[in-house]
Amino acid sequence: MSELQAAGEARAKLVVMKFGGTSVEDAKAILRTAEIVRGRRERGLQPVVVVSAMARVTDQLLAAAAAAGRGDKTGALAIAARLRNRHLETAADLLCGEHFAEIEKAIRARFDSLDDLLRGIAAVGELTPRTNDKVVSYGERISSQMVAAAFAQHGMKGAHVDARSCIITDDHYGKAVPQEAAIERKLAELVLPVAAAGNTPVMGGFIGATADGTTTTLGRGGSDFTAALVGGGLHAGAIEIWTDVNGIMTTDPRICADALRVKTISFEEAAELAYFGAKVLHPATILPAVQKSIPVWVLNSRNPTNEGTKITAMAPPCASPFKSIAAKKRLTIIDIVASRMLMTHGYLKSVFDVFDKYRCAIDMVSTSEVSISLTVDSNERLPEICDELGRIADVKLEGHKALICMVGEDIRGRSGISGRVFSAIRHVNVRMISQGASEINMSFMIEESDVEEAVRSLHAEFFGDPDPTVFDVEARAVSAKA
Ligand code: ASP
Ligand code: MG
Repeated sequence: MSELQAAGEARAKLVVMKFGGTSVEDAKAILRTAEIVRGRRERGLQPVVVVSAMARVTDQLLAAAAAAGRGDKTGALAIAARLRNRHLETAADLLCGEHFAEIEKAIRARFDSLDDLLRGIAAVGELTPRTNDKVVSYGERISSQMVAAAFAQHGMKGAHVDARSCIITDDHYGKAVPQEAAIERKLAELVLPVAAAGNTPVMGGFIGATADGTTTTLGRGGSDFTAALVGGGLHAGAIEIWTDVNGIMTTDPRICADALRVKTISFEEAAELAYFGAKVLHPATILPAVQKSIPVWVLNSRNPTNEGTKITAMAPPCASPFKSIAAKKRLTIIDIVASRMLMTHGYLKSVFDVFDKYRCAIDMVSTSEVSISLTVDSNERLPEICDELGRIADVKLEGHKALICMVGEDIRGRSGISGRVFSAIRHVNVRMISQGASEINMSFMIEESDVEEAVRSLHAEFFGDPDPTVFDVEARAVSAKA
């Protein structure tokens, strides 16, 4: 085998495994995580682990930073003291002997320096985005050290890697932009050899540093992004995002008891679904992996034998036109009827400027000659928005609406699909319809009270005879027998 081939095979065995806050929230969760990683090692794979801060820690660090920024030193230090205790207690539950002694020392040192930092912020009475990133980074810095120690204690050769030495970013504090070429070099230098020696590298997600070493963060929920960057940079064979659901489902199982797990879905389909409320992961964050054709798996750490959902750049052909049906409730339709300026140049801009001013996102738009209808999440700024729109048009609000979004690559260019959709829900009043420019979703607005009936009817119509190569039909067979 050539050297190049050997290197390729070694990289194919690399699997980046990301665990979120609930997967490391206490000693029990960390041990469960360790067993999952052990399972991969036993299969001959080489895991590289990315972890979030323990659950809720990021919020509390942000609260501490904000308190210090207001000059409330006592409040800030009180939050830090509670966090210190929680980490020390978890370490005591999790570790023993030398492993505990080492981590205890590290936790105390980290929290001492966090206290100093908070005192400094409180003394100046000003919190800059740069300092905020520094404060919030402690969550992932400490969780990753603790998880690495747990792996070491359990015979898995845990090796802590400070994410800030590899995840090189620009200096947009709070939402720093990763520098992929620099990251790839650092990973090759600092992570690859550690993994190749049979260790399990563990690093914090979400955090990074500028080229000159100032701490940054990638934005809230950024650990998935870190996993994709690490997987992409290492040219890993796979990325696994461990959460607390069984992957992506054909619809919400609380509405439809016979919802099925989707075994494989395209990146574009997953992106549409994420936007419409499927809570699994935000696909924009896995872009670095998709661009390199590295499959991303969504898996359930509470049900590790479940096969999850595989997200790939291109979906395999599927006999069913749709992959999944999502519903988003608590929406409001705003009808804007322009009497005078009727679709004149600049009119739409003036309408959208109002939404922009209140930072209000719009889900769906449809227009006619005289009116625009759009839908927004119900929010407390709506009265103000309507007041302002009232200056340029007649405005009518209708609350308690819901959006149904049906996604599938295989509706592209097929005829008769909308006929099937609307005849399945012929008893339901449909308000607005849109078939997105992406050609892979069909969305429409209905009354919130009709959601359950509509979703069940549509699910029965399109998933009555599901394609077994794409959907987990075995689970349905098992539950039908039970
Ligand atoms: N701990 C960070 C957050 O809560 C990043 C993450 O968990 O993905 O936003
Ligand atoms: Mg998350």
